Amino acid sequence: MNVTSLRSQVLWLAIFASLCLGSMAQAFDTVILDAGHGDHDRGASIGYVYEKHLALDTARRVEQLLKKEGLKVIMTRGRDVFIPLQDRSAAGNRYGNAIFVSVHYNYSRGGSGSGVETFYHFTKGYTLAAYIQAYLVQRTKMTNRGVKNASFHVIRKTERNPAVLVECGFVSNPTERARMLTGEFRARIAEGIAQGIVAYKRAK
Ligand SMILES: [Zn+2]
Repeated sequence: MNVTSLRSQVLWLAIFASLCLGSMAQAFDTVILDAGHGDHDRGASIGYVYEKHLALDTARRVEQLLKKEGLKVIMTRGRDVFIPLQDRSAAGNRYGNAIFVSVHYNYSRGGSGSGVETFYHFTKGYTLAAYIQAYLVQRTKMTNRGVKNASFHVIRKTERNPAVLVECGFVSNPTERARMLTGEFRARIAEGIAQGIVAYKRAK
């Protein structure tokens, strides 16, 4: 093989690789954001601190951050309304080239549970969960409860796209509850989720 043909082979290999990477980076352009609970379904609650409010505020912050990155964002709810679970997963399956991210806050009896965790159901959701969990922990310095497999309806029934459910801390934990009542903390949570999504997109 002469040098010229080797060079042209290397060139074609480079072009092929960049085409592959380029097309893989286009693997999704839409993020379906699902703020957990709503209306009469408060989710976890202690006193007047309701998960439904925290989740909606956090999801809205993530929405703004992702839009700045040029991503299309679909919210399953943008206000305090009740959305049945099957409507949420239907939204998760409605779009191609999309990912589905459900935002929740956690609860444990006795109030000792702490930290953040991210759930996936199908294998194709695992990497997205790992990215979000890693950035969430890095951004908030909260206890890392890890990436876990689970069968929550919204991630089990969203079959078309990678789907994850993020638990952003425990409403039942007095220390975490005090933090999550501050906008600064919810902004950090939102940054962690958004940065995880953007890093996942770049890694594809
Ligand atoms: Zn919840």
